[in-house]
Amino acid sequence: MVKISTHINQELCNFVFEIFMKEATNYQFGTRAIHAGQEPDPTTGAVMTPIYQTSTYVQEAPGVNKGYGYARGKNPTRVALEKCIASLEGAKHGICFSSGMGSMDAVIKLLRPGDEVVTGDDLYGGAYRMFTKIFEPYGIKFHFVNMGNLSNVSAKINEKTKLIWLETPTNPTMQIVDIAAISVIAKSKNVLLAVDNTFASPYLQNPLKLGADIVMHSVTKYLGGHSDVVMGALVMNDDQLHERLYFILNSCGANPGPMDSFLVLRGIKTLHLRMERHCQNGRKIAEFLKQHSAVEKIYWPGFEDHPNHTVAKKQMKDFGGMISFTTKNASKETTFRLASSFKVFSLAESLGGVESLVNHPATMTHASIPSAEREKAGVVDSLLRLSVGVEDADDLLADLAQALNAV
Ligand SMILES: *Cc1c(COP(=O)(O)O)cnc(C)c1O
Repeated sequence: MVKISTHINQELCNFVFEIFMKEATNYQFGTRAIHAGQEPDPTTGAVMTPIYQTSTYVQEAPGVNKGYGYARGKNPTRVALEKCIASLEGAKHGICFSSGMGSMDAVIKLLRPGDEVVTGDDLYGGAYRMFTKIFEPYGIKFHFVNMGNLSNVSAKINEKTKLIWLETPTNPTMQIVDIAAISVIAKSKNVLLAVDNTFASPYLQNPLKLGADIVMHSVTKYLGGHSDVVMGALVMNDDQLHERLYFILNSCGANPGPMDSFLVLRGIKTLHLRMERHCQNGRKIAEFLKQHSAVEKIYWPGFEDHPNHTVAKKQMKDFGGMISFTTKNASKETTFRLASSFKVFSLAESLGGVESLVNHPATMTHASIPSAEREKAGVVDSLLRLSVGVEDADDLLADLAQALNAV
């Protein structure tokens, strides 16, 4: 008897969940952030997705299971998160990885020796390092071009080109690449387009809707949002592409654990609220820096005189909380002093958390890029990058003012 009633409850739960999920695609962003992929626990009704801390699952007979065999391949907490992230990007499929780099590694493993990739010259430092130090020795060729100029991209595409890897806004100089325009080129040449959407987050920008084939996230940043997890994700619409990338995850093993999946599910519930505040604070700080006499250049796509402002307005919902700037006549020493003078901003790598961070790209996030190439891309010694958090704006402005006065 007990067994039967549990069975019925579970069926009912699944039924209600399926109706909800059918409707979920129609819900707006904030509702999906809180609910997508998440059902009340069928055994207890727990509202929060349980942390399925298990490496293996019992089988009814050899090979007969409930869709879960071994946790490298699949874990229910991770599956809930994958559905949630896919929903936020408007994607059919999502796959989570143990880090952003782990997810990027899986995309490059779609390629074979002799294949070529066209990518930006202002990339996340770790991406540049992986492309040149890990995959070039395996015989994959990477072309680093300024993607702001579309003809630079077309010029490097030949019959060996299999992938365009694009990052926008770029890190750390906040250039904006026109995703829709690049996707037209990619489609005409039958080349896959992958977009690193980490800086924008799914709240500000959805590259699949602009024609990309794969979207990558360092979940570590805005999606996680609390600087307590390292994780990556890929989302895509194409079933075959999903199958191939999932095969790579399961074969190579860069899978995240259930506890981290839970933390990110929890973090995502406030993504829309956090992003609104990141954008509000970002605007106030960008405007403050613009009128400050010590500031030389400021990189933020929300200014009308930003070279790609029109594209940013077209493809992003708002302009985000990432801002870089240089100070006038600043030596490396002065810049170091400035970077260490903050009281609310913490001097640290990473970005996208609730707390404000300051970073010196030339010695921190972009140290693995040779200095000549670095400086060509604008990553000079006097450049600082801010990840504007969600604290009270007045405290952040006062902190910036006192730090700029101190040097
Ligand atoms: C941090 C970051 C990555 C790498 O992600 P990890 O989670 O640190 O491995 C990739 N791209 C961008 C834009 C990033 O900021």
